[in-house]
Amino acid sequence: MGCGSLPNGYAIYTCIYCHNYLYVPFTCKSRFCCSCGTRYTLDRADTIARKSINCPHRHITFTIHKDLWPLFQKDRSLLNLLFCAVSSTILSWFYNQNHKESFTPGFISTLHTFGRDLKWNPHIHVLITEGAAGNFTPWKKFNFFPYTMLRNRFQTILLSLLEKHLGKNNFKSLKNHIYKTSKNGFYVHAPKIKAHDIKSTVKYVTFCYDRHEDNKRIEETIHAYEFIKRLIIHIYDKFIYMLKPHVAKFRKHLRNWKCRIELYFHYDPLKCSCGHTFHFYYIVKKSYDTS
Ligand SMILES: [Zn+2]
Ligand SMILES: [Zn+2]
Repeated sequence: MGCGSLPNGYAIYTCIYCHNYLYVPFTCKSRFCCSCGTRYTLDRADTIARKSINCPHRHITFTIHKDLWPLFQKDRSLLNLLFCAVSSTILSWFYNQNHKESFTPGFISTLHTFGRDLKWNPHIHVLITEGAAGNFTPWKKFNFFPYTMLRNRFQTILLSLLEKHLGKNNFKSLKNHIYKTSKNGFYVHAPKIKAHDIKSTVKYVTFCYDRHEDNKRIEETIHAYEFIKRLIIHIYDKFIYMLKPHVAKFRKHLRNWKCRIELYFHYDPLKCSCGHTFHFYYIVKKSYDTS
């Protein structure tokens, strides 16, 4: 609630031309703050975009039996096992598709500790590529994710990880209870993300080349994606990221508070009323009540 108020500390900027001062209060940096929290969300989206491969993705939700919830609430360090179980579930399924290739998809897992009703309900959201890189095949499309397999595999892997962690005897009765009451495995949801309306953005490329056989000039018109596909087939061992490196670098630069204010509120907060620029001068730390 005290986000951005002066007692929490502030930076002082000064204008060397008119000796004006500017006080910039520090923000709280809490994820629950409506201002700072939004900032984290934007940063996260940006970070994910920078790491993502430019291909269709699937959103998978991995949930667990509700009788396991209290276990994770009591000992938060167990939450890491959820990530381990999700990761093993995904990687082992891809490995089983072809042992020699041992396909590896790209995926990012995020922990949510609450459901829509805000009650404690730890579950994992995964953003995964609809394709994977193999040892020999640079990229293979996978757009089929078998729910039943994911459900059962995730349940088995997580329960055995928990058993290892908590001890066989301590976990035995809960484990049996879970197997008895959720015969189909934990609920795993993987809806297909609707592709954007590609038709409206259809673009064609016309190009020409001299044919080897008869040296004849050939003109071809193909879809832009097909054209790109033909080009990138020659690039080996490297992925096409969603953001080009220079774009990623530029967007990172936009993350400082001055740029953000310019971006969202359309004014330069460091511009003095005299027209010159404020320069950093001093930091005043948070004042602690010592009474
Ligand atoms: Zn000034
Ligand atoms: Zn805040």
